[in-house]
Amino acid sequence: MPELPEVETIVRDLRKKIIDLQITDITIHDGRVVRQSTYKEFSRKLKNQSIAHVSRRGKAIIIELTYPKSFLVVQLMMTGQLIVSSDSIPQRDTKVSFQLSNKNCLHYNDYRTFGRLQVVVSLDEIPYFKALGPEPLEKNFTVSWLTQELKKRKMPIKPLLLNHMFVAGIGNIYASEILFASGIDPRRPALSLGKEEISLLHRVTKKILQQAIRHRGTSMNTYRDATGAKGKFMNRIKVYGREKEACYSCDSVLVREFQAGRSTFYCPECQK
Ligand SMILES: [Zn+2]
Repeated sequence: MPELPEVETIVRDLRKKIIDLQITDITIHDGRVVRQSTYKEFSRKLKNQSIAHVSRRGKAIIIELTYPKSFLVVQLMMTGQLIVSSDSIPQRDTKVSFQLSNKNCLHYNDYRTFGRLQVVVSLDEIPYFKALGPEPLEKNFTVSWLTQELKKRKMPIKPLLLNHMFVAGIGNIYASEILFASGIDPRRPALSLGKEEISLLHRVTKKILQQAIRHRGTSMNTYRDATGAKGKFMNRIKVYGREKEACYSCDSVLVREFQAGRSTFYCPECQK
């Protein structure tokens, strides 16, 4: 599933490739991903629009359009991909193709068809945005905020980091990696973390997400950037998906456990 670093990579790619272009035509190959009252309305709201900006909030991609000002919001969910190509021919999993004024095509591919595309006049129309917690790479994600919020919560730290209403966009891979790098047992109640642990957790969260963005994300399975290439953070993964293998730091056997229905990977020696 694309998480914050993967979505951020796609957004940065799209900024280089589609800003100031016009959407000259829209082809809906499979409308199940279109969240508009009719497909006709979806196409009408996009046709001949110019792309002014591309941004991200949580794991949603926001493509800002000019006249009238509106937003194409793309939620990739499990297997969505946004790929710019000089080829207008759709792939097997292409659900929507946007023809661009430079003759390139922006294809929305989605193998599992759980993603959603919607055009809105205001971002307030998207319930997901209202529920989201702070962005971990923005200024409002501070040590003092984190300290205050962790104190209120008895739940284990790992599922809390995965909760987008708590903090936006950290997915399962990065939550596992962040806790390993912080030396914190994922099962610890959030409120049991000490002052130094919280400040380390805060620093490591930013560091790992930034590193993952620099390496263009992790391609565990279907994730591709906007050029169709895989991310390179996979080689830097320390615990995720490595149960029964040796810890790189201490050689102990890594453990996989289920927490709130999700797999958690950790080192019983390094994480206390
Ligand atoms: Zn270890």
